[in-house]
Amino acid sequence: MRCCPFCGWPDDDPVTTVSRHRGSTGTTVWTRCICGSLQTRVRDGAATVVCARSRPVGHTAATA
Ligand SMILES: [Zn+2]
Repeated sequence: MRCCPFCGWPDDDPVTTVSRHRGSTGTTVWTRCICGSLQTRVRDGAATVVCARSRPVGHTAATA
């Protein structure tokens, strides 16, 4: 099972669903991990694949 590389939270159990967009290739779901990492998931049939994720909140220079 895949999990968050920052905090180890399992990808199968998203903490917060930020938004959901239905597109021609499937449904794109943005979720936020318990550590603050934003994840982009693409639902392809029955499977949901995490295709991108940001760094956790507080670990970057994005303090503005
Ligand atoms: Zn995490």
